[in-house]
Amino acid sequence: MIQTCIRCGGPGAAVLSFNYDDRAVWLDDLVTPVGPGEGHPFCALHANRMTPPLGWTLTDHRNTTRLFAPLEVA
Ligand SMILES: [Zn+2]
Repeated sequence: MIQTCIRCGGPGAAVLSFNYDDRAVWLDDLVTPVGPGEGHPFCALHANRMTPPLGWTLTDHRNTTRLFAPLEVA
């Protein structure tokens, strides 16, 4: 079963999860189908473009080698 990106409908590559209490969002590799309430599937492109809401932190737990290195933010 292939899950599709909630943004573009492309093949899913990552799962976005979040915790309201900690104001944390994180990305994991999409290895098992995401069940209801477990997170949101994203394609690699949209996962890489992910920016957390203001005041939230984004952690990338993916092991996938990225095509482009993320920009360093001073
Ligand atoms: Zn997408």
